[in-house]
Parts: sequence; structure tokens; C-alpha cells
Amino acid sequence: MSALRRPLKSLGQNFLVDDNVIEKIIQAAHIQPEQAVLEIGPGRGALTVHLAERAGRLVLIEFDHALAAWHRDQLKDNGHTTVIDADVLKVDLAALLAENPQKWNVVANLPYNISTEVLFRLYGVHDRLSRMTLMLQKEVGDRLAAPPNCSAYGVTTVLLGLWFDISRAFVVHPGSFHPSPKVDSVVLNFIPLAEARAEVGDEDVFRSVVKSAFSMRRKTLINCLKSAEFAKTVDCAALLEACGIDGRRRGETLALEEFAALSRYVTDALKTVTETN
Ligand code: SAM
Repeated sequence: MSALRRPLKSLGQNFLVDDNVIEKIIQAAHIQPEQAVLEIGPGRGALTVHLAERAGRLVLIEFDHALAAWHRDQLKDNGHTTVIDADVLKVDLAALLAENPQKWNVVANLPYNISTEVLFRLYGVHDRLSRMTLMLQKEVGDRLAAPPNCSAYGVTTVLLGLWFDISRAFVVHPGSFHPSPKVDSVVLNFIPLAEARAEVGDEDVFRSVVKSAFSMRRKTLINCLKSAEFAKTVDCAALLEACGIDGRRRGETLALEEFAALSRYVTDALKTVTETN
């Protein structure tokens, strides 16, 4: 069968082969009857068969053309499943998720090489989601729960933390996959919040403030912020002073509230410039 040819390392193909772990992920996903479910990277279908049984609508995005074709064939009699043969990073997720009036439950054992990029994209559609259950490399998962002032605290911690309650469900050891990865994995539950944890003004501005603050981890905050696009119009020293933040600090010492304050200030400053031009 084409689906069972050798796993491709380039596509992060570590397939789940442990029934106990598969069952625990499906339980953690809390799929409601008639719910719309998105699975990213269904692979050989370890999770997919259970999702197809439970979901009201199921969309699969798989970049391995042979596996996508195999799923299409397997699920041809299942009228509520759609297979998208594509790179998830190129799919317009906002448009896809808008097709269904109800919010989506996302379930995925993500390919490690693109998991951070996928997290950013899912963050971008948080308002279309009711829940996510994602398996990530443990190191990436640990970052999401990291407090300020530690090396694991970074862009994903701050961005995802604005809109999601994130909790660790359980750790998965390499032996649960074929082939076995070199590192542990972790399954996390993401519950979207009805309101952001902090008022940030424009969310695109928030994203660029956070990304620039972490852009050079060994440099001071002021130097990092000065490299951002908004620094062409916003005076970074005045920004930091207005927010009561010492520019000699490192980005990784800032709490979410402090990033939010910087973002609100930059949002207002950019608005004022646009209005006066
Ligand atoms: N869900 C399956 C499981 O748990 O056994 C497979 C998980 S495997 C870690 C990751 C899957 O994502 C593979 O099937 C791989 O082909 C697919 N994949 C890799 N890169 C992708 C991309 N850019 N877009 C969509 N799917 C991708």
C-alpha cells in the first residue's frame, strides 16, 4: 500500500503506534457530537479513524500526496470528511475555518520541523477555535508554559498565552512512535479565551512588539525594539519611558502585561501618525 512506504524524515513522519496514547489523545480532545474537527498531518490515520467516527465534519490537511490520496480512498464513503492535499503553511486557515459556522476542534500530532510556525498560524485563527489538542516536541511544549525570566520563555509563550489557557495533558515517550524520535513529546490542551488576557491595541502591532523584543535575546530591550519596523515612526526611548519599563532589560524578563502596555502605546502612536498625514 502506498501509505505504508518508508516514513519521510523531511515531513517529520513519526507515526503513532501506541493504542494507549492514541486513546488518551482522543479522550483529551473532548470531541462533541456534530463538531467540526481539523486534523493537521493525519499520516497513516492513527488518530483519524477515531476522529472520523466522532466528528460531525472532519477536514484533513496532509502534505504527503501519497498519504492524502490514501485517506481520500479510505474515507470515500464517509460523506463528512474532506482531504486537503497541501502544505498547512500555505492553506488559508481563516477562509477554511470560516466555511463552518460553529467553532473548530483542532487535533494534531504536529511534524516537529514546522510546529512553531503552525502554532503561529493557529494563534491567528484563535477566534474560530473551540479547543485544540496538539502533540509537540516536549521542548516546544515546555516553552508554552514557561514563566518570564527563563530561557524557555519566548514569542510562542507570550502570543499563545494572550488567547489560550494551555495545560499539559501528558508526556509521550519515543517508543510510542514509528520511527522513534530522539526526544520526548508532550500533548497539550489549548482552550481559547473569550477575551484576550490583556488589552493590546492592534494585534499585528502586538505581534511585532513581541517578535522584536525576542529578536536578539542577548541584546537589551531598547536595541531589539529599535530594529522593528514601527521604530521608524515611534521613538523607542519615549515608548519605554511612558510604559515605565527599563530599556536595559532583556525581552525575556517582560510579563504579558508589559508587552501589552508597549503594544497599546505603539498602536496609539502609529494611529496618531496616520491621522496627521
Ligand atoms: N497523525 C499521524 C500520527 O499521529 O501518527 C502522523 C503524525 S506525523 C508526526 C506528522 C504528519 O504531518 C505526517 O503525516 C506528515 O506527512 C504531515 N506533514 C508534514 N509536513 C506537513 C505540512 N507542511 N502540511 C501538512 N502536513 C504535513
